[in-house]
Amino acid sequence: MVDREERWSMQGATALVTGGSKGIGRAIVEELARFGVAVHTCSRNEEELNTMLNQCKLMNLRVTGSICDVSNRSQREELMDKIRTIFNGKLDILVNNAGGIGPGWIPVTQYTSEEYSNLMATNFDSCFHLTQLAHPFLKASGRGSVVFISSIAGSQGFPGSVVYSSTKGAMNQLARALACEWAGDMIRVNCVAPGVVNTIIAESVTQNEDFHKQIMSRIPLRRFGEPKEVASMVAFLCLPAAAFITGAVINVDGGHTANLS
Ligand code: NDP
Repeated sequence: MVDREERWSMQGATALVTGGSKGIGRAIVEELARFGVAVHTCSRNEEELNTMLNQCKLMNLRVTGSICDVSNRSQREELMDKIRTIFNGKLDILVNNAGGIGPGWIPVTQYTSEEYSNLMATNFDSCFHLTQLAHPFLKASGRGSVVFISSIAGSQGFPGSVVYSSTKGAMNQLARALACEWAGDMIRVNCVAPGVVNTIIAESVTQNEDFHKQIMSRIPLRRFGEPKEVASMVAFLCLPAAAFITGAVINVDGGHTANLS
């Protein structure tokens, strides 16, 4: 058992966080970097990414970034090549955060095959493939930690979110199965499943007054979450203090999934 100081330290660790230019991903990047982790992140919009990187620089955080559309297989391979070079073949933390809601909250009968494929590629294929590519670097770490940013929609049914929910449900099962397969390589794999969190995604809920009221009435804490509140759970899961936690799906949802009413 390592001593207390070591259990709560990630000083000198390395991390890749996808989709770190804004929202939950950005909060995760900052949280890890404040623990002394060297973080690389990616997103598609160059201007937003550069603004975020400049702000991190002003805060003296060790954050680098590059453009990558995680739904694209060859761009994922390029990203991992970069990671190999930047971190000398050793990666301690991989946070698969980048994701979206595709065409929005529409009935499954209205989905086109292109919309379906894009959402599956962005939310699920990217996680599977990036994690697979990262395996040798995580193994080299000797204390690898993978965190998937899932959603409570991965375990609950919500009308209008059939494809989104399916990507997150698959992600939960990917984490459980990988946790068993990679435990021998000293790689832990967990999911953090947020409820509604105040980012652009939450705006799609607040835009519809009835939907907003309905969702809010089911959250015992009567508010949406903040990106930082998800980031703190991610950081905890990456710490040596969480060394016995693997294959878990942890809800960060203000009690939403605990409420049957
Ligand atoms: P935001 O839209 O605020 O941020 C998403 C981030 O991911 C941005 O940096 C975005 O940058 C990046 N991103 C999106 N698509 C891609 C892509 N194809 N390739 C690379 N980067 C991409 O979303 P949130 O912060 O709200 O969501 C983050 C994660 O949290 C998602 O997986 C989401 O499903 C999950 N989640 C969110 C909830 C919420 O209520 N906010 C609730 C439950 C789960 P860019 O667009 O420039 O590429």
